[in-house]
Amino acid sequence: MTRPTRAFIDTAALRANLQQVRACAPTQRVMAVIKANGYGHGALKVANALEAGVDAFAVCCLDEALHLREGGIDQPIVLLEGFFNSDELPVIATHELQVVIHTLTQFEHFVKAKLNKPVNVWLKVDTGMHRLGFAPNEIEPIYKSLKQCQQVTQPIRLISHLACADDRQDDTTEQQTRVFMALARHLNLEASLANSAGILGWPHTHADWVRPGIMLYGVSPFLDEVGKAVGLQPVMQLQSALMSVKRCRQGEGIGYGATWRCPQTMLIGIVPIGYADGYPRHAPSGTPVLVNGRRVPLIGRVSMDMITVDLRSQPNARIGDPVVLWGKNLSVEVIANLANTIAYELLCHVISRVKML
Ligand SMILES: *Cc1c(COP(=O)(O)O)cnc(C)c1O
Repeated sequence: MTRPTRAFIDTAALRANLQQVRACAPTQRVMAVIKANGYGHGALKVANALEAGVDAFAVCCLDEALHLREGGIDQPIVLLEGFFNSDELPVIATHELQVVIHTLTQFEHFVKAKLNKPVNVWLKVDTGMHRLGFAPNEIEPIYKSLKQCQQVTQPIRLISHLACADDRQDDTTEQQTRVFMALARHLNLEASLANSAGILGWPHTHADWVRPGIMLYGVSPFLDEVGKAVGLQPVMQLQSALMSVKRCRQGEGIGYGATWRCPQTMLIGIVPIGYADGYPRHAPSGTPVLVNGRRVPLIGRVSMDMITVDLRSQPNARIGDPVVLWGKNLSVEVIANLANTIAYELLCHVISRVKML
């Protein structure tokens, strides 16, 4: 038997989640965000599954976009961080990629470059996240000069990002939306503001293009609920199988540091998945794991390649029995919460040693 640790990717669930995006934003165009290898799900797999239903894809950088082009994806692709070096610009033009321009340096390189084809540009405005983008009052002159630029495919579009939309109570979103919409109206530009949280929770952020990321993968962007609660289906199931089952005596310590001791003589199971595969090292004892479809607690520390589970509730468990770390019946959000992180991080940390099915 080869190591049984796998990530099963449910492409039907991906498409169903895209339908949820369409239901929330029926008149908007959809730019599906598949950066970071499709949030760990396999960018090409995700792109192939969604291609027919989206208007564009978004990735972080040129390499991610080229991977999609090499895989035969012909849809528009937006580079959310734009380019880092002017050498990238001819490649961007050749492959008909779209760039975000968010600094004066990028703007200057762009207007100086000699390109064989014009390029689509998204002008980024910082409406309050204070990460990327021009201040709202800096946009107009940049826009006017790009509008005259031969290397730009018209129309130029406006883009910004929400900082606090995952909290339905935070009024930062209202403030950002007000600034953004006023600017889009003033310049009469197509505009994009909403991430998953905006799509699900803040209808007036929708503008012309929405940019769903995490919700496509079946995960809620909100701090206090799981994807199922907002009609989403988990896409990734991280699964494995018991590689060893053994009896330990009362008082024996389990794993590194012996942080967990058997309260009685009991059955334990070893599962071949660890933090090197993307299972969070900070998942505490008690974190649920499904063995034969039923919850058992993780015990002891997460190792690089293995974890240990308490099998007292499953006296008949055997080597080879199926294990699920997260998926349809165990939300990745639950595991993320217990490990003091967010589902985004867990999903994109699943590494290539874990075969994607
Ligand atoms: C990652 C990203 C998104 C998608 O965000 P989700 O919270 O995953 O929906 C949208 N826009 C930008 C600029 C991003 O970087």
